[in-house]
Amino acid sequence: MELEKKPVKEFKAKVIKVIQETPSTKTLVFDISHVDFDFYPGQYMMVNVPYEGQVLKRAYSIASPPTQKETLELTIKKVPEGRASTYLTEKVKEGEEFLLKGPYGKFVWLPQMGTSLVLIGAGSGIVPLMCILRYIVSAKLEHVKATLLYSNTHYEEIIYREELERMDKHSNIKVVHTLTRSHPPDWKGYTGRINVEMILKEVEDIPTNLYYLCGPPAFVEDIASMLLELGVDKNQIKKEKYD
Ligand SMILES: Cc1cc2nc3c(=O)[nH]c(=O)nc-3n(C[C@H](O)[C@H](O)[C@H](O)COP(=O)(O)OP(=O)(O)OC[C@H]3O[C@@H](n4cnc5c(N)ncnc54)[C@H](O)[C@@H]3O)c2cc1C
Repeated sequence: MELEKKPVKEFKAKVIKVIQETPSTKTLVFDISHVDFDFYPGQYMMVNVPYEGQVLKRAYSIASPPTQKETLELTIKKVPEGRASTYLTEKVKEGEEFLLKGPYGKFVWLPQMGTSLVLIGAGSGIVPLMCILRYIVSAKLEHVKATLLYSNTHYEEIIYREELERMDKHSNIKVVHTLTRSHPPDWKGYTGRINVEMILKEVEDIPTNLYYLCGPPAFVEDIASMLLELGVDKNQIKKEKYD
């Protein structure tokens, strides 16, 4: 399905709020009330990040839904020794201005593409999937069914944990967590990496859904081969790799 491209715009935007999501992750809320900006759920922005007198250009998925017009949210996880992500999670203060450019990307979902969705993410790979879920909730798309499988290393690193708990209470949204390295004693989710058994147990009508996979390249490719093995057509699998 060919979508009409949203115009790419370049604009300065001020951070009006910084939200600590997890020990290593922050959400920057930008004021975009001065811009006529639109995007599809799942797309990303390029951000100019100052670094030792240079400018680093980095891609960050949009976390807020397109129904939210005045502000735009980006969620950044600090990668060890990462230059831009360290700046954005440790140095940025409210009031700082950034040059943003976008939207970009073909990792997009709209209701006319399919109404049975399976979103599979690891770590910061949740961001564009959250945008899709927030869009489903805010646009009241109750006919859309979405299952999220979300993998993290530790409980404390689950981004948007409380909001996901609230979303899981919606009859059309199911949230499934797995933790790969440590878990609290009373943990009720899965442990270990997402595998074929987990998918068979949690996902209904496997070959008929649309799949959105996001995270590190190896994670995305692993999950894609599991889905192909389970009989999903490759055209029903969309991938976004954070490398
Ligand atoms: C489409 C897309 C969307 C994305 N969306 C998000 C998002 O929503 N949220 C998010 O958190 N991330 C997202 N990313 C990832 C993001 O763009 C950056 O790649 C990430 O923040 C790391 O950038 P950095 O400048 O901090 O790391 P860099 O400084 O570029 O370093 C990257 C890695 O290389 C290593 N490294 C750096 N310098 C050296 C060196 N000299 N020698 C050896 N190793 C080195 C670092 O240890 C680090 O592991 C996205 C990526 C893409 C492609």
